[in-house]
This record gives sequence, structure tokens and C-alpha cells, in this order.
Amino acid sequence: MAPTILVVEDEPAIQELIAYACRTSGFEVRRADSVRAAREAIGGELPDLVLLDWMLPDRPGIELLRDLRGQERTRDLPVIMLTAKGNEADRVTGLDAGADDYVVKPFSPRELVSRIRAVFRRRAPELAGEALQYGPITLDAGRHEVLVNGQPVKMGLAEFKLLGFFLAHPDRVFTRAQLLDGVWGDHVFIEERTVDVHMLRLRKALAPHDAQHLVQTVRGLGYRLSQRSDR
Ligand code: CA
Repeated sequence: MAPTILVVEDEPAIQELIAYACRTSGFEVRRADSVRAAREAIGGELPDLVLLDWMLPDRPGIELLRDLRGQERTRDLPVIMLTAKGNEADRVTGLDAGADDYVVKPFSPRELVSRIRAVFRRRAPELAGEALQYGPITLDAGRHEVLVNGQPVKMGLAEFKLLGFFLAHPDRVFTRAQLLDGVWGDHVFIEERTVDVHMLRLRKALAPHDAQHLVQTVRGLGYRLSQRSDR
């Protein structure tokens, strides 16, 4: 369940440097060397984050960013712009176009990785590699461990991912379709009923720890993780 990063960079040496830094930090890496290649990659399986160079051989990276922000499927895809342009005007243009952050070349690989983690922390906390906590539940993705009141809880991988997703967005109601997108990815074709099966298993896993009531069905809508009881 390593987060996938799409590196869009046409200079082979820089692409390699970034890919190496990302891989050794526990991310999965895909690569593209043009806007066209990036569009193809994103049109396939959606990555968890895009590192997007400004100067690419076919089109400016900023154009791709604007397209991504204009489409429902990619509107919330985290994007960090990479560029040699350090001046204030470009920085503002990048952020205005919806970039989550902006890194000026030359950058240190460590700085880049810490920016990536910061964006994940903000946009997708379940991918930041840090422990998530809500009420009595703690989930540590790095150690693949769930604790309820300090006691370890056993569960399957799908239940673990579901719980991680809920912990990252507590008190929010998600439809089955949103859970499929968020947990299994948007290019996986699974029936919505499958979500119910895994929700049932998740409750069963939590039951011996008296925490099953936190996983709530919201009639006609879907599911949420909550300590409230106003259903
Ligand atoms: Ca370039």
C-alpha cells in the first residue's frame, strides 16, 4: 500500500535522482517525460501525487496542472510543481493554478521528500506514513498495526485500508462508491456490495474491543467513523 508518485520530468538525471529519493522513502514511482506521457499515465491508474516539471518538451507543465484541476476525476490529485524558475510571479502562477506546493531547482532530495510528506499530511493523511488516531483507535501504517485502547487488533488488508481511510477523515460520511475510489483506487472494478462485506468484517474485528459502534451505517448514504450517535 505504498503511495504512488508520478514523476513528470524530461531531464533523465533529475528524473533518476527524484525517483531514487522517492523509492528509498517508501513511495512507489512511475515516470513520464512529457505532458503527453503524463496524461496517458494519469488516464490509466490515478497516482497518489504528481511531481510536475514546469518546462517539458511538448507543453508547459502548468497547462497539465490546469487541466487536472478542471476535471472531476483529478481535481483533488495532489500536485507539486518543480521548476528552475524561482521568481515570485511564476510561483504565484503555479499556486494560483492549484499546485499544492512549488519546489525550485536545484533542490535537495531530502527537502523534496519532506515537501511530499507535508502535502500528504494535509491532503491524504493516510498516505503520510504516520500513525492515525481517533477515539480509542490508533492505526500505524508503517508498522501495519491497529490498536484499540492499546490492545492490538487483527484484521485483513482491505479492512486495514478501510479503517485507515476513515481515520484520515473522521466524522465524514462516505458512499460505497467513494469508499471504492478512496480505498481500492478508481480503476478497480469491484461491486459496491463488496464494501458492505468488508465493513461487516471491520466491525467484527473491532467487536472484541468494544469499538464496533464507531463504524456507523448512515441510512441511505453510506458509512462513517464517528464517536457521535446522532444517526
Ligand atoms: Ca524540464
